[in-house]
Amino acid sequence: LAKPLTGRVAVVIGASSGIGEASAEHLAGLGARVAVLARRADRLSTLVARIENNGGTALAIAADATDAAAVRSAADRVAAELGGADLLFNNAGVMLPAPIEELAADQWQRQIDLNITGLMNAIGAFTPQLVKAADARGVADLINTSSIAAQNIFPNFAVYSGTKAYVTHLSRHLRVELGAKNVRVSALEPGIVGTELQSHVTDDGVREWLEGSKETVEWLTPQDIAETVGFIATLPPRVNLQQVTIMPTRQP
Ligand code: NDP
Repeated sequence: LAKPLTGRVAVVIGASSGIGEASAEHLAGLGARVAVLARRADRLSTLVARIENNGGTALAIAADATDAAAVRSAADRVAAELGGADLLFNNAGVMLPAPIEELAADQWQRQIDLNITGLMNAIGAFTPQLVKAADARGVADLINTSSIAAQNIFPNFAVYSGTKAYVTHLSRHLRVELGAKNVRVSALEPGIVGTELQSHVTDDGVREWLEGSKETVEWLTPQDIAETVGFIATLPPRVNLQQVTIMPTRQP
């Protein structure tokens, strides 16, 4: 039986851990050839080896998503080596919440640089490939990782939430603009998922709040999100999930 994503080429940004890593492996398991991008080359090689051991095809591209020229050359490699992308899972992100009065301007900037500028770098580099693929085959996918933080208010998450509100709203606009060309655009909004994301938080209060939530909430796993990404990409071409909120059952 043919796998549902056979013939498709997926690019996963932020694929060296967490949601991106699980999704790259899942998409490969569904038959897509995958290009995996992040900064940590060692982690990408391990992932590629795992995918290839399971019979898949994968290409590691070590690059910093905040570097527009590096992302453009990544897109050139995907075109040359895999024939161009028809699925972009635009997923790299960093979450560094802290009270605004701490004036952690460097952390504000890191979130804006990756969650907004890095996201746009990938959209800029890969949109031509998505449009071309949709034109040739009738469908392509742009899936942007936003967050429940784009909708709900969490104390001390203002800057992160602002970047994710940008992702959700941008996606709604792009859905209309690119949908006319058969490129489906989705904003994926997870609640809390156990990944490396939480390990970068430096604020003690936020760390305690996150840890404490484990007492009442069973966090989602990266695999839960990966399966949702696979679901979005395997729907019939006429069906576009605009916005998908996926929450741990007990997270308020
Ligand atoms: P992880 O920290 O495990 O993964 C983040 C990924 O982004 C890594 O592969 C990391 O790789 C990559 N990355 C970080 N900086 C850069 C960079 N400058 N250039 C390229 N890649 C980079 O966290 P998650 O899997 O949880 O996060 C994935 C997405 O999900 C993020 O957008 C996050 O905001 C979002 N999200 C997560 C939630 C959660 O609770 N975990 C909830 C809602 C949304 P490397 O360091 O090797 O570059």
